[in-house]
Amino acid sequence: MKRPDFMALALAEAKAAAARGEVPVGAVLASGNKVVASAGNRTREMNDPTAHAEMLVIREASQKLSAERLTDLDLYVTLEPCTMCAGAISFARIRRLYYGAADEKGGAVVNGVRFFASPTCHHTPDIYPGIAESDAATLLKEFFQARREP
Ligand SMILES: [Zn+2]
Repeated sequence: MKRPDFMALALAEAKAAAARGEVPVGAVLASGNKVVASAGNRTREMNDPTAHAEMLVIREASQKLSAERLTDLDLYVTLEPCTMCAGAISFARIRRLYYGAADEKGGAVVNGVRFFASPTCHHTPDIYPGIAESDAATLLKEFFQARREP
């Protein structure tokens, strides 16, 4: 059976986030060929600075599976995770991390603190950057351009 395109689903979540006026980042947690949780950013809607797409799917999947660790799950996210989310990914023991665009300003994987390479990081997922990178980057660029226009 062909693996579903989880990054396409994450991109759809990012687009839905943009339509809600949220920064367009989307995430999917998958177990094999099955989606366990999917979400887009909801920081504005929830008045919660921690409501990044990655945090929301980690919370939802942990609840659904009644598990503190998500060792068999793979995370697909449209943007390079920030420091907070990289920490959560590590604590959740997520198996693989697929992400789209790199984030020079807020990223913590290949930019910033490079969390997974730090000595205080005790679990590093397998990391696959640049998945559907241009789609994710275009979405963010268009969102911020539209917001700058009067
Ligand atoms: Zn984050």
